[in-house]
Amino acid sequence: MNIVLLGAPGAGKGTQAQKLVADYGIAHISTGDLLRAAVKAQSPLGIKAKGYMDAGELVPDELVIDLVKERLAADDCQEGFILDGFPRNTAQAVSLDSELSELGKPLDSALLVAVEPDVIVERLSSRRTCRACGFTGSTKHESCPNCGGEMHQRDDDKPETVQNRLDVYQSQTAPLVEYYRGQGILMEVDGDRPVDEVYVDVKNLLGL
Ligand code: AMP
Repeated sequence: MNIVLLGAPGAGKGTQAQKLVADYGIAHISTGDLLRAAVKAQSPLGIKAKGYMDAGELVPDELVIDLVKERLAADDCQEGFILDGFPRNTAQAVSLDSELSELGKPLDSALLVAVEPDVIVERLSSRRTCRACGFTGSTKHESCPNCGGEMHQRDDDKPETVQNRLDVYQSQTAPLVEYYRGQGILMEVDGDRPVDEVYVDVKNLLGL
């Protein structure tokens, strides 16, 4: 099963992906996680990406596209993958289509996790992430329920960056909804509900 998850930052894409990974072992490709790991490791990619990420801007396409191509070639992606946070604009979507067609692994579905912008602002400002394992929780988690690690607020979840990320989403990423609708593979789930309710619909839509 080859899936793209669409939706604004904070819509719950990563949370739904983590559940699918835990239950079905499908490979999870989160470009945000890959980029944060590169920043932490201070790799050449991380050094180039950091400024864009801190400002809530998109990292240049060529950097992210190469990262995804490399990840799609890994063993764990051969039986299927969930792309989370990629593509983020039309150029990335076109490049993904051509890469997947070369690999003979076309997308089965693009699943939109739909949440209204005012809910997103509220969610992002209370979101807390585990420094150790990346678990996504909220201010109610004093430590990580997964691994006991320290929960912190991502720099780009701070109020001064959140609005820019939403603006970038509206102008650059939201048009992908029509792109995938045009390909006949768009599905939509109401993400403004408890995580487990959303997940039931996600599984139904994906035929799991
Ligand atoms: P995320 O965790 O998906 O919200 O991503 C965090 C940040 O990483 C974004 O605000 C961007 O700066 C960068 N990023 C993640 N995925 C992409 C992508 N597909 N294209 C460009 N930048 C990205």
